Amino acid sequence: MSKLKYFLAKCPRCNKFTGIRTSGRSRECPYCGARISQRDRASSTAYDGVGLADVVKAANELLDEKEEPRDTNGD
Ligand SMILES: [Zn+2]
Repeated sequence: MSKLKYFLAKCPRCNKFTGIRTSGRSRECPYCGARISQRDRASSTAYDGVGLADVVKAANELLDEKEEPRDTNGD
């Protein structure tokens, strides 16, 4: 079973965080479809799929709080 590793990356167009494979070239932003390349890496730490999901979620929640204050509905 091969274990993929990902970096946290930030979309240059919509500024949302997502993951990019450490070995991949580029991917499309899941939010706006912009091309995200290794240059858009937001960290040099590599995560596995599960760790990445947590990091992306936390990073985007911080963004949401900054850009658009609103009530949280808990879970
Ligand atoms: Zn985007």
